Amino acid sequence: MNNPQPHLQKNHTNVVLSAQRLSKTFDDGRNQVEVLKGLDFSIHEGEFVSIVGTSGSGKSTLLHILGGLDLPTSGEIILKGHAMNRLNETKRGNLRNQYLGFVYQFHHLLPEFDAIENVSMPLMLRENSTVEQAQQRATELLTKVGLKHRLTHKPGELSGGERQRVALARALVTSPAVVLADEPTGNLDRRTALDIMDLLKDLRSELNMAMLIVTHDDQLAHSGDRILHMQDGLWVNSSN
Ligand code: ADP
Ligand code: MG
Repeated sequence: MNNPQPHLQKNHTNVVLSAQRLSKTFDDGRNQVEVLKGLDFSIHEGEFVSIVGTSGSGKSTLLHILGGLDLPTSGEIILKGHAMNRLNETKRGNLRNQYLGFVYQFHHLLPEFDAIENVSMPLMLRENSTVEQAQQRATELLTKVGLKHRLTHKPGELSGGERQRVALARALVTSPAVVLADEPTGNLDRRTALDIMDLLKDLRSELNMAMLIVTHDDQLAHSGDRILHMQDGLWVNSSN
């Protein structure tokens, strides 16, 4: 029998990030674009969820809002028990730093810094981490993503897949509760993209982080424990 709300899990105990009746309308004064039309969503500790949908269906908008980078027009976002939409930018920023890691289609690494420096940066920005501790943790993470032999390479000296692995290590270095990845393999060839998805899955199991991956690519979405299909700002035909 079809579950009318497949994006909601029966067991809510370990939900790390959720949203209720999320809507988003962009309004530039001349045009109103209703991008999200009342979505419910939840992800559990250690769960790997893929959201798949064609370009323009609202995936990036949803991820931005779930990550507290933008506010919904209406609806609620709960991150580790905090109602993000009710907080000011500073408080949202603090929760983001504490609980979330982000990966994008383009790596956004700093070109003048090597892999260890790029990955240790988020920890260095935290007052409670020394340079030595941050670099030690960065080295561990880079080793986990298969880059032990590239620690002192700068982004320009790495392949596309390697750069994305560095970006992934950087997202994981603060031990976030949830990693939000927007088309993390969109810039890579298929073989490399599949390798990165496998890596995400392995790391999720090892580090017990929830991963939310957004993609327009059906095949890549199949790496998820749960796949949600998005169309025109709504869920469609999703299965658990
Ligand atoms: P996807 O990531 O699935 O390709 P997006 O979330 O980027 O989709 O965009 C969904 C729709 O929202 C698109 O039609 C896009 O033009 C519109 N949109 C996104 N951001 C804005 C914005 N800042 N202002 C107006 N419209 C926007
Ligand atoms: Mg997008």
